Amino acid sequence: MMLTDLTIAAARDGLRAKAFSAVELTMAHLHAIEALNPRLNAYITVSHARAVDRARAADAALAAGDACALTGIPLAIKDLFCTEGVRTTAASKILGPFVPPYESTVTANLLRDGAVFLGKANLDEFAMGSSNMTSAYGPVENPWKRRQDPNAVLVPGGSSGGSAAAVSARLAMGATGTDTGGSIRQPAAFCGIAGIKPTYGRCSRWGVVAFASSLDQPGPLARSVEDCAILLGSMAGHDPKDSTSANVPVPDFRAACRRGVKGLRIGVPREYRLDGTPDAIERLWRQGIGWLRDAGAEIVDVSLPHTKYGLPAYYIVAPAECSSNLARYDGVRFGARVAGGDLRELYERSRAEGFGAEVRRRVLIGTYVLSAGYYDAYYIRAQKVRTLILRDFTDAFATVDALVVPTAPSAAFAQGENMDDPIKMYLNDVFTIPASMAGVPGMSVPAGLDADGLPLGLQVIGRPFDEETVFAVSAAIEQAAGFTAVPALRAGG
Ligand code: GLN
Repeated sequence: MMLTDLTIAAARDGLRAKAFSAVELTMAHLHAIEALNPRLNAYITVSHARAVDRARAADAALAAGDACALTGIPLAIKDLFCTEGVRTTAASKILGPFVPPYESTVTANLLRDGAVFLGKANLDEFAMGSSNMTSAYGPVENPWKRRQDPNAVLVPGGSSGGSAAAVSARLAMGATGTDTGGSIRQPAAFCGIAGIKPTYGRCSRWGVVAFASSLDQPGPLARSVEDCAILLGSMAGHDPKDSTSANVPVPDFRAACRRGVKGLRIGVPREYRLDGTPDAIERLWRQGIGWLRDAGAEIVDVSLPHTKYGLPAYYIVAPAECSSNLARYDGVRFGARVAGGDLRELYERSRAEGFGAEVRRRVLIGTYVLSAGYYDAYYIRAQKVRTLILRDFTDAFATVDALVVPTAPSAAFAQGENMDDPIKMYLNDVFTIPASMAGVPGMSVPAGLDADGLPLGLQVIGRPFDEETVFAVSAAIEQAAGFTAVPALRAGG
């Protein structure tokens, strides 16, 4: 077996048993990046020298017998996390050559636990998108190929598309992502890997470039449910620097993966049955329900009546917060500046030049829905809908322990598809947005392939701060699915 094929759990054991060194493990990944990243474009920045230095330090720690949870484990970091001394772009031209003088809390936690950062992963600009097509640093190629049409270049999903493609193609053992409306779960599903959006407040947002602050939540992507549990255990925790960070203990997520589902009540919300969902996804969903029943769970039909209002309400709340968060990029204090005759012209030119089309669209929508006269009609109304969506989940969780639904309404689509109509692109988020609006945890698990050989994910949604049950149910699906397919483009493949 190649080093790049190992899970994080197996690599930890191998490092401790001295079967290979941290430098060897890191070098194997750096070589894979060298070979494949020019094509996949999963990384915007590769921090070769830093990674080797950290791997050497990891070997020293291992030799001294004081290894931590992630000592020597090579990871990709979504380029939305500020990393001290390493350029952070948010995949936007407007941040230009910005090099943060500080480290985000989540990445600092990973470094504390010994992780090796290979580089900064590509994403949709400011995490706005579902395809990685809006990156100012170019699109990412999904390493999976359609059996019938292997020349089509598919998107990895988004916004954490670089993270998902890197992990899937074995250019990293795991990655950080952020999820505002599906940006961890949907790319995980498109790339055949696992990813969890934790409860809002579980991981600190401090040092993560803000998109929509009441929705943004960091989380891990990896090739197994257990690996996600290991990563989340390190990333999570209370942070006084983020006022929305929850002061709750971080449980042993890894142990939760082994709990099983016997006696759990698992809900199937009828509103997630949508016209136009491909048969393969409907079939996989039914199969997933069957697996959980066979593993000892009780399956319960539930209703989340306000589901259909989630998407429209999200596309008011998220742009509103985005327009306010992105007001700071004025050409004066950060990044790129385009000179103008006066200050106003400097603002206008810098923002027109610095932001891509999708970001400009969102800023315009957000400014509109927040403007006097429309604020009550749109923003306040969307916030009320949000309360109703949360109430739906609260009511459902009074009778069930978790929900199982599809992650996305399609498999990975080709670059250029869904680009003519923003609404079509936004529909990708239909199954992920409700959990985001409610702030509850959701995990995508690779569960099967469609007729084209492309991966499909199932999503497990849980109670606030009950990621343990989410991991238990996800691990049960993973075990029953026995998903062993690998992408066409991968290290050594
Ligand atoms: N695709 C969604 C959007 O474009 C979600 C993005 C995200 O979760 N960051 O807003």
